[in-house]
Amino acid sequence: MGRVTRLLSLFLAASVCAAQTQYQDAAARLIGAALTDEDGLARLEYLCDRIGNRVSGSPQLEKAIAFTAEEMRRAGLENVRLIPAKVPHWVRGKESATLLTPLKRPLHMLGLGNSVGTAPEGITADVVAVSNFDELAKSGRAKVAGKIVLYNAVFESYGKTVAYRVSGASTAAKLGAVAVLVRSITPTSLRSPHTGVLAYDEAAPKIPAAAVSLEDADSIARLTARGVPVKVHLAMEARMLTDADSNDVIGEIRGRDKPGEIVVLGGHIDSWDVGQGAHDDGAGVMAALEAVALIQKLNLHPRRTIRVVAWTNEENGGAGGKAYREWVGAGVKDHVAAIEMDGGAEKPVGFGVGLGVRTDRFGPQAPPAMASISDAGLRRLVEIGKLLDGIQATSMERGGEEADIEPLMEAGVIGFGLRTESEHYFDWHHTDADTFDKIDRHDFRECVAALAVLSYVLAEMPERFGDVR
Ligand SMILES: [Zn+2]
Repeated sequence: MGRVTRLLSLFLAASVCAAQTQYQDAAARLIGAALTDEDGLARLEYLCDRIGNRVSGSPQLEKAIAFTAEEMRRAGLENVRLIPAKVPHWVRGKESATLLTPLKRPLHMLGLGNSVGTAPEGITADVVAVSNFDELAKSGRAKVAGKIVLYNAVFESYGKTVAYRVSGASTAAKLGAVAVLVRSITPTSLRSPHTGVLAYDEAAPKIPAAAVSLEDADSIARLTARGVPVKVHLAMEARMLTDADSNDVIGEIRGRDKPGEIVVLGGHIDSWDVGQGAHDDGAGVMAALEAVALIQKLNLHPRRTIRVVAWTNEENGGAGGKAYREWVGAGVKDHVAAIEMDGGAEKPVGFGVGLGVRTDRFGPQAPPAMASISDAGLRRLVEIGKLLDGIQATSMERGGEEADIEPLMEAGVIGFGLRTESEHYFDWHHTDADTFDKIDRHDFRECVAALAVLSYVLAEMPERFGDVR
């Protein structure tokens, strides 16, 4: 290296931000360990293949929680404990939807979570297809009463289009509809229906609701557009039982210097009752657990406590996130940051960051509104993000809302959501196809690396990370 080059490189090194130089070594070790890690993937494989899907109220969910607690102990985490939560216990039962006219064939359907069922003989009715809520309103009671409404809304984004799944049933019920079918909330389909939760408006009669595949939704919409009457028979045994007992599970690395200050990270251990809940969200729980296990294994001993949480009941109630918030009580002020991975384990690109989410995330129109982190706060995070340059996951952008950490964010804790390329997540999400084979091993390991580096730095930096305005 020539003298000028050497001087130049020294100058460049000196001008690199403090976060980069200070934590570069630890970050490099964490990334190196994550990229060759087998344990995180082995746990996820076990969860998927040996325990399976785990909807709230199911014995598999409690088995998964016990397994997660046991694995936390095996990884050497401290204070492993359960935090009880009462969760809704919805069961699907047998279900079917059959096209009767103009030809008889089964529809590819999945009842929506928390839906009521039909009477045992089912519902037979003509279908009114609409592309959006405005079309439904224009159709009015005269055209809708006594009918099954099909919402054939084309996927724009999950946040936007999910409104049809969440509030479509009550909106149609107010016009006298007897049931609804919802085009699955996905951009892509191989005749795969996607379930997911609905929310009933107490002001409307509760009517059964089911998702249908994109192909079936399009076929029905083409027929009705040509004026061909479409008749469907819908039979669903779905019902809500009394609330069940469940638990969040937590484990920690106690901080060496400020054990009372906490960086919390995790995912949700429950899933829908189809597929294996691999991307949603077994991957989030097992990646977070492994991130903390690696910090422990590398003897990094961060200044603050790092706590990993597997939240229960994200999918159809959010009871786990609320139970955790209640359990920490006034201790919420000691939470430095909350990090959640619940967007699948595709290649990570960085984190979304936010403050103070308002609830009603599934309201008919309003997407969650957040207080934004300041420009100065974001700049500091961008510097921390550079530590993930080795895996090209450096992005720090506003918008960190994730369901389980929302109760913490509402109380003022800075929230981070892992962001991925999300190329296929919504193809698999809430379907029978969300299985372990869809997990790319390298991408999963990069998710572990991203979670490990961010949580470590936030737990280690001398001054508590706070938003500076
Ligand atoms: Zn999820």
